[in-house]
Amino acid sequence: MPQKKDYYGTLGVSRDASLDDIKKAYRLLVKEWHPDRHFEDKKVAEEKFKEIQEAYEVLSDPEKKKLYDRFGFVPENGGMPNSDGYSGSGGFEDVFKDIFGEGRAGTGPFSDFFDMFFNDSSSKSQRRTSQPPQKGEDIRVNVTMDMREVLEDTQKTIEYNKYEACPACHGNGSEHGTSFRKCPRCNGEGTIHEEQRTFFGVFVKTYPCPTCNGLGKIIEKKCSVCSGAGKTFKNEKFIITIPSGVEDGFILRVTGKGNSGKNGGPNGDLLVGIRINSDKRFIRKGTDLETQVDIDYLQALLGDRIKIPTLEGDVYEKISEGTSPNTVIRLKGLGIPDFRTKKRGDIYVRINVKIDKPSIREKKLLKELAQMRGISAE
Ligand SMILES: [Zn+2]
Ligand SMILES: [Zn+2]
Repeated sequence: MPQKKDYYGTLGVSRDASLDDIKKAYRLLVKEWHPDRHFEDKKVAEEKFKEIQEAYEVLSDPEKKKLYDRFGFVPENGGMPNSDGYSGSGGFEDVFKDIFGEGRAGTGPFSDFFDMFFNDSSSKSQRRTSQPPQKGEDIRVNVTMDMREVLEDTQKTIEYNKYEACPACHGNGSEHGTSFRKCPRCNGEGTIHEEQRTFFGVFVKTYPCPTCNGLGKIIEKKCSVCSGAGKTFKNEKFIITIPSGVEDGFILRVTGKGNSGKNGGPNGDLLVGIRINSDKRFIRKGTDLETQVDIDYLQALLGDRIKIPTLEGDVYEKISEGTSPNTVIRLKGLGIPDFRTKKRGDIYVRINVKIDKPSIREKKLLKELAQMRGISAE
């Protein structure tokens, strides 16, 4: 003979309570007696929780309720829970969906969902007592290089400061990483429940505790190394290889070299901005370089070997006699490598013919020349 149980008393409702009242009472009690919220007297909470479940299962089922009201218990063959007491029967999961969201309740087998209440190591209970992993911030640094260095892959040493998780407290800011006490505001729960009584019933608003940021615990004694900040400043040196062909303003991302992540999150990245010193001899147009060379008008007339600057030193190039001003000559493959293909561009050289005032002797010779060409030049 099963023991007579006071299901109405367990749920705190009267015998003529409506199904809605029963559901409401059940929701509040399930929250209140959730074993995860009773660390100290977990066994008691689990027992209480089971009683609530059982009472609800009977009172929310019209057939079982009828039997209970009549006999004071529900006979074994009347569809009572099986030996473990928690086979999923109707009505249950709906309410859990209401309370805990669609996510897990009702999607998996019932035992799985039951785990989330009674198993401390389940992900659900961990989520409440730890903060989510957070990626560290990116750090931006600049590297300056000469245009000559763009021709090849170039190694540069980068020095910068970054935050690292404090090694003394492992980033949680408490002395030795362990000096915590229960948050007084949320009583260790990590969440605040606010009841709002309205005409339609009692609504419970739940949000992460702002005092402990949802951790349920606050620092008792601050870490003496980082003064509770959880992070320390560290000077970092890092050798980066800058690929040939980079352009001014380019940003290289070095994964994981930024500030340390929080709560086991990944590190931020190091963003290396490339600054290329301008070379006043050249104008860069992608992989090509443009330059200008001044020559004497007689060199233009008679032809010569002229000196032309390149990023790798001067070269000498023959110009033919009778070269017109502003003639452009091309030095193939002496430009800048393409960032991807590494194929080098060209240097375009504009010939600027300089004409200056002739000396008296030069003038005499030039006048003879002029007469030859039928120019009076008076
Ligand atoms: Zn510390
Ligand atoms: Zn709190």
